[in-house]
Amino acid sequence: MEGTILTVNCGSSSLKVALFDAQLQKLASGLAERLGKDDAFATIKGRPDRIELTAGATHESALRALVSALQDCGLLDAPPVAIGHRVVHGGETFRKAALIDEDVLTAIEDCANLAPLHNPVNLAGIRATTNLFPDVPQVAVFDTAFHHTLPQKAYLYAVPQRLYRDWGVRRYGFHGTSHQFMATEAARLLGKTPATTSIISAHLGNGCSITAIRDGNSVDTSMGLTPLEGLVMGTRSGDVDPGLFDFLANKGMNAEEVHRILNNESGLLGLSGQTNDMRALCELADHDHEPSRTAIDVFCFRLARYIGAMMASLNQLDALVFTGGIGENSSLVRKKTLAHLGLFGFTMDEELNAHHGSISDGQIEGADSRFRVLVIPTNEELVIAREALASATPGSAG
Ligand code: AMP
Repeated sequence: MEGTILTVNCGSSSLKVALFDAQLQKLASGLAERLGKDDAFATIKGRPDRIELTAGATHESALRALVSALQDCGLLDAPPVAIGHRVVHGGETFRKAALIDEDVLTAIEDCANLAPLHNPVNLAGIRATTNLFPDVPQVAVFDTAFHHTLPQKAYLYAVPQRLYRDWGVRRYGFHGTSHQFMATEAARLLGKTPATTSIISAHLGNGCSITAIRDGNSVDTSMGLTPLEGLVMGTRSGDVDPGLFDFLANKGMNAEEVHRILNNESGLLGLSGQTNDMRALCELADHDHEPSRTAIDVFCFRLARYIGAMMASLNQLDALVFTGGIGENSSLVRKKTLAHLGLFGFTMDEELNAHHGSISDGQIEGADSRFRVLVIPTNEELVIAREALASATPGSAG
């Protein structure tokens, strides 16, 4: 089948697009930043010129600008055959990607109460591409969908169950497209099928989550009702004592302030007092900046604790997998994390780790390690494109 597939990932003030051919080879990608601000702009990767956007540019105007830039490059002469959208929260409704119609749009709107910061901007992206390409099938690919296999013991919080029944308070998990990609890539590298492969997948980027995948299915994950729970992240705290909420309320803070502290001012940024950027922290730590060292130590220790916890959900472990900007690039984080896990029988090959994994299969474990340890670059856009193609054109090479 010929034609292209467009993927769209809308954040609160940014928008990423990627264009794939029918064989799912990436043709181009673009990014719009600072949307809603006076200095909004967009770029197409590999092209030197910035695309200036009007002050206060919306997701729709940015998308128009990026699409017209792709057309100018001769890459989008005909409308795409499918458009895949990343949608953060699919609640319990969406267990897989969905071809978008009025009912699906309403259900995504309903899920917005679970992700008020995310789903509305994802819907803005869907509306924008629907206006631009009214006849092209649009597909929603949910961050939560891969985790629909979580067993009840992993997704229930120990709170009164009316909160679950009435308001959907449970653990959902996120980064599903990345963890799903790890499950298939790890299986491929290990010469197995996903259905017989069990891994622990650590997605470590600006947001961080870890998932236990048993025989191809997500069975435990660190993010919960929202993407705040679990690991230390760039600006998010991850796990804290829930008693912190009353403690801060008693200090006079309202819900909005607590939200801001835990989501925007915590994590690596809060611990280091300098930056949420792991690469910059590693450089600061090299120059004896103590708070940066502490931030890296807390990050790695929390991660190691979660790796230990994820073992409880597996009956075999084919590989521990590191991915995301930090997981793929920070040999220091991998080394410090694995150093906590000797009791489980993990060892690391210093040289392979320094090279971010062997070229053939990304392995970094030592010859005597009880478990394989792999570094695998994530590719969430590819998963979105693949799911969009499969849902929009059933029977195609999805
Ligand atoms: P992502 O959200 O997946 O793009 O990941 C962003 C994070 O990856 C940031 O904290 C970056 O500092 C981190 N990162 C990217 N490259 C490196 C590197 N070479 N060493 C350490 N951290 C890195």
